[in-house]
Amino acid sequence: MTYQNYSLKQLQQIDAAHHLHPFTDHKDLRDAGTRIVTHAKGPFIYDSEGNEILDGMAGLWCVNIGYGRDELAEVAAEQMKELPYYNSFFKCTVPTAALLAQKIASLAPKHINQVFFGSSGSESNDTALRIVRHYWALEGKPEKNRIISRKNAYHGSTVAGTSLGGMEGMHGQLGGAVPNIVHVMMPYAFELALPGESDHDFGLRAAKSIEDAILEAGPDKVAAFIGEPVMGAGGVKIPPASYWPEVQRICRKYDVLLMLDEVITGYGRTGNWFAAETFGVEPDTITTAKALTSGYLPLSALLVGDRIASTFIEKGGEFYHGYTYSGHPVCCAVGLRNLEIIEQEGLVERVRDDTGPYFAQALRERISPHPLVGETRSVGLMAAIEIVADKATRARFEPAGSAAVIVRDYAIANGMMMRATGDSMILSPPLIWTRDTIDLACDRILKALDLALTDLKPAS
Ligand SMILES: *Cc1c(COP(=O)(O)O)cnc(C)c1O
Repeated sequence: MTYQNYSLKQLQQIDAAHHLHPFTDHKDLRDAGTRIVTHAKGPFIYDSEGNEILDGMAGLWCVNIGYGRDELAEVAAEQMKELPYYNSFFKCTVPTAALLAQKIASLAPKHINQVFFGSSGSESNDTALRIVRHYWALEGKPEKNRIISRKNAYHGSTVAGTSLGGMEGMHGQLGGAVPNIVHVMMPYAFELALPGESDHDFGLRAAKSIEDAILEAGPDKVAAFIGEPVMGAGGVKIPPASYWPEVQRICRKYDVLLMLDEVITGYGRTGNWFAAETFGVEPDTITTAKALTSGYLPLSALLVGDRIASTFIEKGGEFYHGYTYSGHPVCCAVGLRNLEIIEQEGLVERVRDDTGPYFAQALRERISPHPLVGETRSVGLMAAIEIVADKATRARFEPAGSAAVIVRDYAIANGMMMRATGDSMILSPPLIWTRDTIDLACDRILKALDLALTDLKPAS
């Protein structure tokens, strides 16, 4: 690779001089310096100092089949030689886009048979918002356009993604959100359940906040509810089992569409191809991206249910929306091969029947008892570890978020890549993890927690 002519220090200097990183304090980064990740293989990433780090985040929730899959490189090279690019505008298509759309439809819930491609989760949520509002316009109800979302939701970082999302810090820098989007409470029992309230009752109460928002606006003004089946960037918040069926019941009662953002949960992470199945709901749209290509190339797919698609097809009229790279032939070729690999290796079933339950048990038995841990929770291969100052009261260390950062830094220094959001440590490893990989991860997490204990003084 060309960069091998440069020293580590030179690369860091060049990066600081020219590269503005995403979600970064640019001053802080220049003081602290960057870690340069140079290569990766299977479940491990390697940095320029030769450290081997177990990647508990699958990149950024995406490298589900692990690193170093030459087949994806080969399929991309072949497609690039044959047809590197053509658009799907003007009544054209490309073979790999058609075939990938068919493949996704075959894996999706039965009532979903159409796919709209983009290049990122943010773009795909933009598409979802446009499609849902246009659907109601085509149905003669253009005023039925309000979207209900949730506080602390993450739906991407474009203007539409930020507006749909419920992250306060991001809204603060937006200078005006897309109008007519409201945010209700999140289903986060660990912090929001009332004393003595059961998970079941809390789930119903969280769902009720959606009904309240529908009634406040009037059902004829509400287009859809959007939610991540499990809030990811917001801290792997797994709702109680009562939540999603109740959300669906409420949406149906008031004829409000249900939009799932499965950018993280899509393609196997929760032990089913889609978390819609895991949580027993039938959404009208499903946003997907990340694991669709296991991150090897940028590609997103909005899955569009029959109700919306048939209105678009019956009523006609051009829908003025799409991207230069919608249905990019190389990305679609890689997506197809990636899904075939997930299928051939039985990764979804493995997560459902073996590694998912084993992961949950390992977290419960090995991590939960630690003095710094208030709760562990997981579904399939996504998990959170709550860091607390007091196991009994769930009080946090001051200032908020500081303790998790200490744990994270020790984890990375000890070969375990995991993230901290607020005071939650989060994990979303590649689906190729085995029981042995889970054991290794737990060893390293425990070591990080023990080291953090030397800096932090829990109450009991
Ligand atoms: C990552 C993510 C997005 C945004 O995807 P990008 O590809 O970064 O635009 C949207 N929704 C969820 C749930 C995500 O995790």
